[in-house]
Amino acid sequence: MKDLEPIDLEGIDANSPLIIAGPCSAETEEQLLCTAKELASNGIKIFRAGIWKPRTKPGGFEGVGAPGLQWMKEVKETTGMLTATEVATKQHVEEALAAGIDILWIGARTSANPFAMQEIADTLKASGAKVPVLIKNPVNPDLELWIGAIQRIYNAGIRKIGAIHRGFSTYGKHLYRNMPQWHIPIELRLRYPNLPIICDPSHIGGKRELIAPLSQQALDMGFNGLIIESHCNPDNAWSDASQQVTPEILNFILNTLVIRDSKTTTESLTLLRQQIDQIDNELLETLSKRMRVSREIGQYKKEHRMPVIQATRYNDVIRTRVDLGKEMGMDANFLKTILLAIHDESVRQQIEVLNDRTR
Ligand code: PEP
Ligand code: MN
Repeated sequence: MKDLEPIDLEGIDANSPLIIAGPCSAETEEQLLCTAKELASNGIKIFRAGIWKPRTKPGGFEGVGAPGLQWMKEVKETTGMLTATEVATKQHVEEALAAGIDILWIGARTSANPFAMQEIADTLKASGAKVPVLIKNPVNPDLELWIGAIQRIYNAGIRKIGAIHRGFSTYGKHLYRNMPQWHIPIELRLRYPNLPIICDPSHIGGKRELIAPLSQQALDMGFNGLIIESHCNPDNAWSDASQQVTPEILNFILNTLVIRDSKTTTESLTLLRQQIDQIDNELLETLSKRMRVSREIGQYKKEHRMPVIQATRYNDVIRTRVDLGKEMGMDANFLKTILLAIHDESVRQQIEVLNDRTR
């Protein structure tokens, strides 16, 4: 994909991060226009809104569909902003192109599905359109599937392509709605240095408070833009209410972000990575030391005919460590996950010692 072209859009400074903002969904004509006008007056140049909404479960608001495209046209005419929407089927692509949508994006549930991706690619190819297409990472942390989705769009003749990092689904409740797993977009960057990557802090964080820190982190890592959900009345949004901010708050957030000089960013990033490498080595050494001690305990228990698992000790270990870790500013769920994994492995090691007839 060496001949990818920059996403240079009319009226948009190609040297600054690409900023796309707008509501999760188009709900009503009033909501769309009111949000768009406020965003435009805060300097936003590209407006996003979902017309067709892929919802995890049936019964929720699934988007207004084609009538919303007319509202997007109105947004364009009255504010001069460019418009972007999500497409997932042949019909979506055809209708969005016919309505003059300027940028298409492909959602995380769609990029995980090669059949849907091929259908979209075939429709784009048949239309001969040269519209920029942004491809969100699939819901699951599978870099190859993400790259495959991007390649299908590339093979359809589209050259203005961007990737959107929106985090990855996991089971259970966590600080983030979708785990950032930054190493995945970084690996994508290393493989395709000329592919712009845009961060979607709204869907990674799932909450307003996380938009600013995630956006800053993305810029520090050299991401090329941000796509952020903004709604004129976020608390009453019909989808993703807790992660949307008013255009005014969005403006405040964008003004707090520091766009660092890319050279100094790379230098400080290298230094930080060296620290991470060092810390990881220490973690691994500590873990292996812990496993060796566990095996010693296994040997002791074997000689004294003691059971491997002692429930009170097990509960104490988890509880005291979780409390301690919380005091150090870490998340309780994360601590539980990691401590249970370490404990399970210790038990496995002890059982191995117990069954080893040579000791
Ligand atoms: C969205 O952008 O509103 C959306 C549905 O996002 P995702 O595909 O990342 O879940
Ligand atoms: Mn959303």
